[in-house]
Amino acid sequence: MDISYPADVEAFRDEVCAVLAEELPSDWQGIGAIASRSEAQAFARRWRASMHRRGLLGITWPERYGGRGLSKLHQVVLVEELAKAGLTFGEHTDLFGIKMLGSTLLRWGTEAQKERFLPRILAGADRWCQGYSEPDAGSDLASLQTRAVLDGDEWVINGQKIWTSEAHHANWIFLLARTVPEAPRHKGISFLLCPLDQPGIDIRPIRQLAGEPEFNEVFFTDARTAAENLVGPVNEGWSVAMTLLGHERGEEAATNPILFRAELDRLFVLARERGRHRDPLIRQRLAWCYGRVEIMRYLGYRILTQSLQDGDIGPAASIAKLYWSEYHVKATELALDIEGLAGLAPRGRPPLRAVRTDDPGAPNSTGSWLGAFVNARAGTIYAGSSEIQRNIIAERVLGLPPR
Ligand SMILES: Cc1cc2nc3c(=O)[nH]c(=O)nc-3n(C[C@H](O)[C@H](O)[C@H](O)COP(=O)(O)OP(=O)(O)OC[C@H]3O[C@@H](n4cnc5c(N)ncnc54)[C@H](O)[C@@H]3O)c2cc1C
Repeated sequence: MDISYPADVEAFRDEVCAVLAEELPSDWQGIGAIASRSEAQAFARRWRASMHRRGLLGITWPERYGGRGLSKLHQVVLVEELAKAGLTFGEHTDLFGIKMLGSTLLRWGTEAQKERFLPRILAGADRWCQGYSEPDAGSDLASLQTRAVLDGDEWVINGQKIWTSEAHHANWIFLLARTVPEAPRHKGISFLLCPLDQPGIDIRPIRQLAGEPEFNEVFFTDARTAAENLVGPVNEGWSVAMTLLGHERGEEAATNPILFRAELDRLFVLARERGRHRDPLIRQRLAWCYGRVEIMRYLGYRILTQSLQDGDIGPAASIAKLYWSEYHVKATELALDIEGLAGLAPRGRPPLRAVRTDDPGAPNSTGSWLGAFVNARAGTIYAGSSEIQRNIIAERVLGLPPR
């Protein structure tokens, strides 16, 4: 494994650093340091627009769709520099639009779909959410019951999705629907793109433990989408869905450790601030966290190397997902133990997003750590629960017999 970066990638790093120096205010301390939630959100929106204007969104996509045709390594360097500068990559719906759907359309979309949707995703004109889970179909996604029937030149959709993150901020949803109800479970499913702003769709926010309603129930009652909004072959949506899940589970393996390392540095400071850094049991747990984050970093390098060589990370995505999410539960529990009773009366705003660590630059406030603690639980569920990741690792990595 060679962990140095080639010259053209380092040149790109210089470009990113120059953009950051030009675009950020001189007293910039990181998005987490903005005390008001609404101001932090407003900054995230402005920053996203700057990234688009400076050509830093969708950099791995071909130029004809608004990208720059750069490599995954360039993307890693971009996220590295953003994390170091206390910035996140895009807004929350970009996870679904750029990372998941964009990458999936490049693999499965028709030329017309790519030309129509990809530039609009980068411009922020379309904001996407993910309609996979249903009340009786989560880990067992193939149990999904939402139906779509072709009526002339439109699909008519009926059913319900749940836990749909950001649907209340999105104007499109990609969803899985059963198009041949009597077919075997993984067959007869199609992958559809559907506009949300129509009378047949009802979005009802669900308030999470952390306090904000970040996900929703989405009800479809004779909702309609054009026939050409089918991605991949009809009734073969399962393969498309799995391509997308690979992007959801894997690509951040190399950049997550940067965020977790920054969070851990904050935890060290917290232990000192609260006078707990000499407590042998706290020290032992801090040392455990340090070892885990270092291992996560090398695991990330290994997965990145594999992805650059083979183009696909396969079940390694499950190893990375299981590793960071289980680590994060323990690290945030430690933060709350260090805080003691003060943690029960949180002060300061919670994280802007319910995924991973609090935003870079966040203060060592009880509000920040309690939010991260609650979000860490969600991390062991979304994008495939820990038990499901263990099943994948057991069967596809270790070769154990199927359940
Ligand atoms: C914060 C958050 C955001 C989310 N956002 C989205 C979104 O935007 N779009 C979307 O479609 N979904 C989203 N989800 C849903 C998520 O994908 C599901 O919650 C997840 O797949 C688990 O499904 P479930 O909740 O139905 O639990 P279940 O599948 O019912 O699982 C319940 C428990 O049983 C365990 N279990 C289930 N099957 C097995 C098995 N075979 N072996 C061992 N243990 C098993 C699970 O690990 C879990 O502990 C989100 C979830 C969260 C928490």
